This record gives sequence, structure tokens and C-alpha cells, in this order.
Amino acid sequence: MASLQLKNIKKTYGNGITAVNDFNLDIEDKEFIIFVGPSGCGKSTTLRMIAGLEEITEGELYIGDKLMNDVAPKDRDIAMVFQNYALYPHMTVYDNMAFGLKLRKTPKAEIEAKVKEAARILEIEHLLDRKPKALSGGQRQRVAMGRAIVREPKVFLMDEPLSNLDAKLRVQMRVEIAKLHQRLQATIIYVTHDQVEAMTLGTRIVVMKDGIMQQVDSPVKLYNEP
Ligand code: ADP
Ligand code: ADP
Repeated sequence: MASLQLKNIKKTYGNGITAVNDFNLDIEDKEFIIFVGPSGCGKSTTLRMIAGLEEITEGELYIGDKLMNDVAPKDRDIAMVFQNYALYPHMTVYDNMAFGLKLRKTPKAEIEAKVKEAARILEIEHLLDRKPKALSGGQRQRVAMGRAIVREPKVFLMDEPLSNLDAKLRVQMRVEIAKLHQRLQATIIYVTHDQVEAMTLGTRIVVMKDGIMQQVDSPVKLYNEP
């Protein structure tokens, strides 16, 4: 059974814009799905519907065999990493990473263990007491990643997570994300404009245009065949 299933998904915003239309995709466990397509084609909207941050107008979203349409974001086994990192500026790195677990009433000792383990993996242990403004872009990106991985979700949604980094750091973090995918054994859905990221990370690539899925295929087939 697919771990995540989007069936005939449609999103029409209040202003009448249909951002996504008749979107169908079965995602297997541990796949690394890449969304590509021009700005405004509905990639973020699709991710936000999966995360529960945006209501689905029509269609069904399943995780396993459970219908998710009306499940609150915090009750979905999903974590999202945003392009701008969306860290809380008044909180320390530790508290930023602990926030989602606190929200879910995780015991304190368990929170501490999970935050420290994630910080160790991401090599940000020495930054736990800092506020986001005292971090570099790459460090902020790691904290955003850490905040997602402490929850050990089944599905990660990443919306252009590397696009604000310089080229060198982007390459480094791309390698780290590939390692994380192996290590976490999670399903990842990842939006990017970077063809190298798409080709090296993706198990399958979804090409979108004007809210419609144009094509879905493996990187080799998509980029190498005429
Ligand atoms: P992408 O992530 O591919 O750039 P989006 O999903 O952000 O595309 O946007 C898809 C379409 O939906 C665009 O036409 C955009 O203007 C519109 N849109 C996105 N968010 C909203 C919103 N909150 N309200 C109204 N329209 C929106
Ligand atoms: P709260 O936000 O619940 O009032 P704090 O955020 O001050 O509490 O810290 C709660 C607990 O989290 C602390 O007792 C400690 O165990 C742990 N903690 C907070 N900051 C750090 C840190 N930088 N490194 C390790 N553990 C921390």
C-alpha cells in the first residue's frame, strides 16, 4: 500500500484561483519525491495541503489507509521545513527544536534526549543556547531541519529548503539531506528549482504546470530520454 496517497486533489483559494487541479499521486514508503515546475504552478499549495496548513477543496489525502483531510496539522505524522526556516526569533535553538514536542505534550526528559540527539546528528550541539539572529544561514537551515527531525515523522515536506544558501553550502547540505534520508528511513517530498538537487536526491520527479501534474518519472528517465 502506498504510504501517502493524493486522490483527485483540487485547491481553489477564496479569491477563485485554482492552484491545484485533479492531482493524483501514490507515494511509496521511503520515496524521495521531488516537485519541480515554474513559480506559481501549485507546488507549495500541494505541500501545504499535505501538511494540513491549507484546506483541500476536493479530493482525498490518505496516509496509509487513514483519510487525513480533516486531521489537524499537529496530529499528522508529518513535519515541514520551510524555505525561510520559520524559526521563532525570541526562542533559543533548543526551544525552537523542542517546540513541536512540547506542543504534543512529550515528557521533558524525552524532549531533551531527542533534541540533543538531533543536534548531534546535525552538528549544532554548540548552538543550542543561541537565538536565531546569532546564527549563519547554514546554521539556521540546520535548526529548521532539526526541528523537523526531532519529531521522527514518517513524512518530511521540504519547500526549497536550500534556496537561501550560497552555492557551496547548498552542495554540502544536499549531501547531508541524502544521508538523513538514508538514516531516517522516511518519506520525503521536496520542492526545488535546482536540477542537480532533483537528479541526485529524487527517486521520482513530479513536473507541475498551472496546477496540473504534467509528468512523473525517475530522474534518469525524465532528464536523459528525448
Ligand atoms: P508554487 O509553490 O509552485 O510557486 P503556489 O502553490 O505558491 O505555487 O501558488 C499556486 C497558485 O496559487 C498561484 O497562482 C498563487 O498566486 C496562488 N496562491 C498561492 N497561495 C495563495 C493564497 N493564500 N491565496 C490565494 N492564492 C494563492
Ligand atoms: P520552558 O520553556 O519549559 O519554561 P526551558 O526552555 O527553560 O523551559 O528549559 C526546559 C528544559 O529544557 C531545561 O530544564 C533543560 O532540561 C532543557 N534545556 C533548555 N535549554 C537547553 C540547552 N541549551 N541545552 C540542553 N538542555 C536544555
